[in-house]
Amino acid sequence: MTHPGTAYRTVIGLEVHVQLLTRTKLFCGCSTQFGLPPNSATCPVCLGMPGVLPVMNRRAFELALKAALALNCKIAPFTKWDRKNYYYPDLPKNYQISQYDLPFSLGGWLDIETLAGSRRVRIIRVHLEEDAGKSLHDESGGGGHSRVDLNRAGTPLLEIVSEPDITSPEEARAYLEEIRLLLRELELSDCEMQEGSLRCDANVNVHIPGPDGSFAATPIVEVKNLNSIAAVERAMRYEAQRQFEEFQKTGKKLGEMPKATAGWDEDKRMTRVQRRKEEASDYRYFPEPDLVPVTVSAERVEEIRAGLGELPAAQRARLQSQHGLSGYDAGVLSRQGRSFVAYFEQVVQKGGDAKEACNWATNEVLQTLNERKLAIKDFPISASALADLIAEIKAKGLNKQRAREVYGEMLTGSTAKDAMAKLGFKVVADEGQLRDLIRRAIAANAKAVADFKKGKTKAADAIKGAVMRETKGMAKTDLVQKLLLEELQKA
Ligand SMILES: [Zn+2]
Repeated sequence: MTHPGTAYRTVIGLEVHVQLLTRTKLFCGCSTQFGLPPNSATCPVCLGMPGVLPVMNRRAFELALKAALALNCKIAPFTKWDRKNYYYPDLPKNYQISQYDLPFSLGGWLDIETLAGSRRVRIIRVHLEEDAGKSLHDESGGGGHSRVDLNRAGTPLLEIVSEPDITSPEEARAYLEEIRLLLRELELSDCEMQEGSLRCDANVNVHIPGPDGSFAATPIVEVKNLNSIAAVERAMRYEAQRQFEEFQKTGKKLGEMPKATAGWDEDKRMTRVQRRKEEASDYRYFPEPDLVPVTVSAERVEEIRAGLGELPAAQRARLQSQHGLSGYDAGVLSRQGRSFVAYFEQVVQKGGDAKEACNWATNEVLQTLNERKLAIKDFPISASALADLIAEIKAKGLNKQRAREVYGEMLTGSTAKDAMAKLGFKVVADEGQLRDLIRRAIAANAKAVADFKKGKTKAADAIKGAVMRETKGMAKTDLVQKLLLEELQKA
């Protein structure tokens, strides 16, 4: 199906690389800490000196298993390491230790939330490999020297390869956001794209429908150098349109041109097709002779699976079924992480109405956390205090403006009741007093009363508004409504 308003369908498969949160590298004891002085976190193993032997970091492997299980992959009982041969200055061994034909996991999926509802993206494989170092090129145009920092060489890197199931730039964004949420929630990676702990390459082409129900596919381009999730979305939109326009001119289809690589230029907001893509055979993979294969027992897999806890997709489904929230509201809550969802659920448990609790949590609470750069655990209003506020609002018919003022006062540590007393908010709920005010308002608004009598029920709002002004917004609204209708019958 093409998207409305477009003449083609975008097809995207993503290859995501994620640095795992281990203290030390994958095959040596060097630190993985970001931002250390260049080349200070290195040793003969990660520098690729001759005669040294790698030793697998068991912790990294366990974290990788956890990620693969969270992505619904099947775990292989037997897996091995392979050498991927290539030479770049940032890879002093001349090969990268990776996994080729027997990755530790295969065949999973990830459910993502889109505007059109929940969608499933299949995962081909998740494997583990070591990261390369970083080349630093002098871009001043002066000396022209390039330097290399090998601190990153050997950092455990998880590669997550999706099927080309992603059908729009927006879905690509949703998929990456979901991976980031999942891996952060499980404390497997900090997923900072700016620091390079989450990186993404995208394979993209477009399908252009023909008159007879068939379609033409354009040659696939692999887009690299995507430094933010927003950049991925922009690059996909640009590249899809570029391929469509190129197809209009050349008519070249998939298979008629070799697969190309393109870099994304974020400043110019365009892709640049660079060079022919290496084929797998160019890397001359062969089994890594210095490392033993890894076996994983079914019991261990089940232990890890049991320890995953509730994952975001399941959590969203539960928030909808258990609390009657919309898919959108469940998504907003879930994106804030488990502790935030736990706070929301405590408010509900303490008696707060779920929809109201969700509104307060995702509006005022979230805004306060962002403004004050606080985590939910440091938020000054306890779940039961917020539940009290919600109950007070309902019982006293407090309007939104007044409720926000009470909330503001509660941020200093007051209970809802104390905050209202402090602000001098005394709700007018005395029937006699309110009836008196209503009668006077009716007398002063003859036109509105006449309109109401003619069947314009909205006209009653003007009279109600006068009463609310008279009480500075503190009249109990449902009581005013009830008494006003009674008095209007008599008027
Ligand atoms: Zn090292």
